[in-house]
Amino acid sequence: MNKPILTRGGYALPGTSSAFKTGDWRVRKPVYQHVHAPCHGTCPAGEDPQAYIAELDAGRPQQAWEKLVSVNPLPAITGRVAAEGIAAVLAGRELPEKPDSPEITVSFDQLNTNYFEPLARHEQDILPPAERIGEIETERTLAPAQVTAEARRCLSCGNCMSCDNCWTLCPDSAVLRLPEGARESSPYRFDYDYCKGCGLCAHECPCGFIAMTEDL
Ligand code: SF4
Ligand code: SF4
Ligand code: SF4
Repeated sequence: MNKPILTRGGYALPGTSSAFKTGDWRVRKPVYQHVHAPCHGTCPAGEDPQAYIAELDAGRPQQAWEKLVSVNPLPAITGRVAAEGIAAVLAGRELPEKPDSPEITVSFDQLNTNYFEPLARHEQDILPPAERIGEIETERTLAPAQVTAEARRCLSCGNCMSCDNCWTLCPDSAVLRLPEGARESSPYRFDYDYCKGCGLCAHECPCGFIAMTEDL
């Protein structure tokens, strides 16, 4: 089978800087960070909200649900965390430890929010006191369209959303991209022969997925 071809960004025309190996100049090097979003790092049930939100954003509620229950069968009430604690107390055992949280999460100042449009949050309706009868829930749920709209507010913290910014903006065509259909995890690669370490890709990445490291 032929190997997939990596393509260069917008500056890769003949006669441009791709003729020069600008990687020799580099003192800093961009790397793709594989760190977690805050929502993932702080979820007490060990869920990956970013993953199911991405499914909702793509209009796949069934897949979003399957991602949720694959970790916790009762996600709506953080069932596993509470149930395990109660079971431990009743059985006279030590309380179970919280699921491992990733140590590194992306901070807000690592995002480039200029690429996101501010969108108002959809709030759940609260049942008026006069209508709170019996065991009826006081908080109403969001409508499906509101759920999808909420998913669209996600900033994809720390996770590449394939916006092509790094690929198109790199002045040395040092970001390569796998063509559609040949992608496994991230579709992008740095070509360090040509990367001069300017940091533009990291600055323009909306999601904080690229970090600059020393490369002396
Ligand atoms: S913006 Fe999205 S990825 Fe970031 S913390 Fe919120 S839900 Fe998670
Ligand atoms: S924008 Fe291009 S040259 Fe600059 S650090 Fe990123 S990959 Fe390297
Ligand atoms: S700029 Fe960031 S989010 Fe956009 S394609 Fe590059 S790594 Fe992915």
